[in-house]
Amino acid sequence: MKLVFATHNLHKLAEIKALLPTHIELVSLSDIGCDEPIEEWGETIEQNALIKAKYIWDHYQLDCFSDDTGLEVQALDNAPGVYSARYAGPENNAQKNIAKLLEALKDKTNRKARFKTVIALIIEGKTYQFEGIVNGKIAEIPSGEGGFGYDPIFVADDHNRTFAALSKEEKNSISHRGRAFEKLVNFLK
Ligand code: IMP
Repeated sequence: MKLVFATHNLHKLAEIKALLPTHIELVSLSDIGCDEPIEEWGETIEQNALIKAKYIWDHYQLDCFSDDTGLEVQALDNAPGVYSARYAGPENNAQKNIAKLLEALKDKTNRKARFKTVIALIIEGKTYQFEGIVNGKIAEIPSGEGGFGYDPIFVADDHNRTFAALSKEEKNSISHRGRAFEKLVNFLK
């Protein structure tokens, strides 16, 4: 069975390829000749995941899935959420996003936050959804050398180091994305 992962991120593709059963041939957007960017105009993480998968189904009629992730901070009414990648504006990068978030939380005592990943899967036109969540809190200052995005300031519950200070394996075993993909892989088995 051929399955498109609606991402331009080849690193993500390789990671999930290694986890899938052998009867599934995972292909990328460039493998199917989809080089155009897919607009993510949704207002929720769920909507954005579905928009990307639906785009592939509507334009290529191929079974596919896509993922979308956001960081939800309780004291900020769940911001940056669906806008996590561009929280600091169009000229954003991880450092600027982190700086903006720490500034927004400066006077808050509640630093609870969670990462949420939603995967939308479309098989023969039928849609399925898988969710992975990791609860935690936002640290006062960044620490750790690994990971990406908000990893240097996110500390998962029952841990005392940021995601950026964990090994890749440790992070994957508890992360939002790891949990959502585990559900997808079990479904596809
Ligand atoms: P995406 O939907 O996977 O592209 O994630 C959207 C944004 O959320 C990224 O640009 C990062 O800022 C943030 N993000 C997603 N996953 C993680 C993670 O595992 N650690 C830290 N930040 C993340």
